[in-house]
Amino acid sequence: MHEMAIAVEIVDCLLNVAGQHKATRIGEVEVEIGRMRQVVPEALEMAFSAAVAGTLAEGATLKLREIAVTAVCNDCGTAYSPDIDVSFVCPSCGHANPGITAGDDIVVRNITCDVDEGVST
Ligand SMILES: [Zn+2]
Repeated sequence: MHEMAIAVEIVDCLLNVAGQHKATRIGEVEVEIGRMRQVVPEALEMAFSAAVAGTLAEGATLKLREIAVTAVCNDCGTAYSPDIDVSFVCPSCGHANPGITAGDDIVVRNITCDVDEGVST
């Protein structure tokens, strides 16, 4: 299950950001999941709660947003949205030679964290 590796990466990123902002707690994190990655949201949520255990991100809410796959045909230049569960064939020329333009990434979009205002640095 590759969701665990993804969860660990997300948590790494969270802790980095939290460190930079001297956050004391992470409330919510918004993550965009490209459909190309074929992530199972429930599995990622489970992996995430395991990965944050014992860190200051523990208890953070994971909000997942799925990003559809879009591609541009390398043969004829047509932009299209392949149905990745079926095929990548270009609707215009019938070749399966797409350059993926979106939906191939996992991006941490937004992090909400609490900063302890009482502590001056
Ligand atoms: Zn084409």
